[in-house]
Amino acid sequence: IRINFSTIVKDTGFINGYIAVLHDVTEQERIDSERREFVANVSHELRTPLTSMRSYIEALQEGAWQDERLAPRFLSVTRDETDRMIRLVEDLLQLSRMDNEAEEIEKDIVDFNIFLNRIIDRFEMTHKEDVKFVRNIPKSAIFTEISFDKMGQVLDNVISNAIKYSSSNNKRVEFHVKQNILYNRMTVRIKDNGLGIPANKVDRIFERFYRVDKARARKMGGTGLGLAISKEIIEAHDGRIWANSVEGEGTTIFINLPCETIEEDDWDA
Ligand code: ADP
Repeated sequence: IRINFSTIVKDTGFINGYIAVLHDVTEQERIDSERREFVANVSHELRTPLTSMRSYIEALQEGAWQDERLAPRFLSVTRDETDRMIRLVEDLLQLSRMDNEAEEIEKDIVDFNIFLNRIIDRFEMTHKEDVKFVRNIPKSAIFTEISFDKMGQVLDNVISNAIKYSSSNNKRVEFHVKQNILYNRMTVRIKDNGLGIPANKVDRIFERFYRVDKARARKMGGTGLGLAISKEIIEAHDGRIWANSVEGEGTTIFINLPCETIEEDDWDA
């Protein structure tokens, strides 16, 4: 807290009183320091691929371009680093759009269970061999108002993470959907049997650029922004997202969202 004192002086020159103004600077300071940290993180995240690209380009200039074996490898590294930077910049733009956007995102009413099943189908196609998907999803409809694109992005991110942060054999991702009719809410659970996250770090995975294992996450090509973006999207749906994890056993991501109760009467109408 910052305190400003002013004296009140009468025409006669006598001091009549004091005014103390209390400013709460802690909130402002927190925002400033978060912003500084964010800029430092962005700079660092961009510098890493740039320095790497620079050294490969230098090597190519110094003669590697003539080496039929080396040149394609060096070029593919620079290509990968460029892709990483593009992903990073796209994620940053999305975050900044969400930070600024006062307007609501466009939503449609869908049966969440159909929506989720389609997404799992897609993953199942590309991970036939290495991942087992288990669905505990009710047959009956649960209607929710969501943005297809954005909610799809959240689920893509969470499911990709579940696969990414698991050891290579016996990967298993379980889905659980439950409606709470009393509160007009629903909860989705996405559980993996992967590496897990140390207890004191679980809550931090939704922070921008936070990664439990920097080197591993980088190798997997992530930007460290996926869950931060997911959290913003879920909050824009009046929802909540959180995680539970046991190191060495696996992680569960929970997403709680509002849902619609369709009255019997609505069907008759
Ligand atoms: P990225 O995957 O690009 O690093 P995310 O924001 O998606 O960024 O995730 C942040 C971090 O949270 C990851 O780097 C990883 O350390 C941790 N994490 C996320 N999901 C899981 C999971 N299912 N199991 C273990 N760790 C996870």
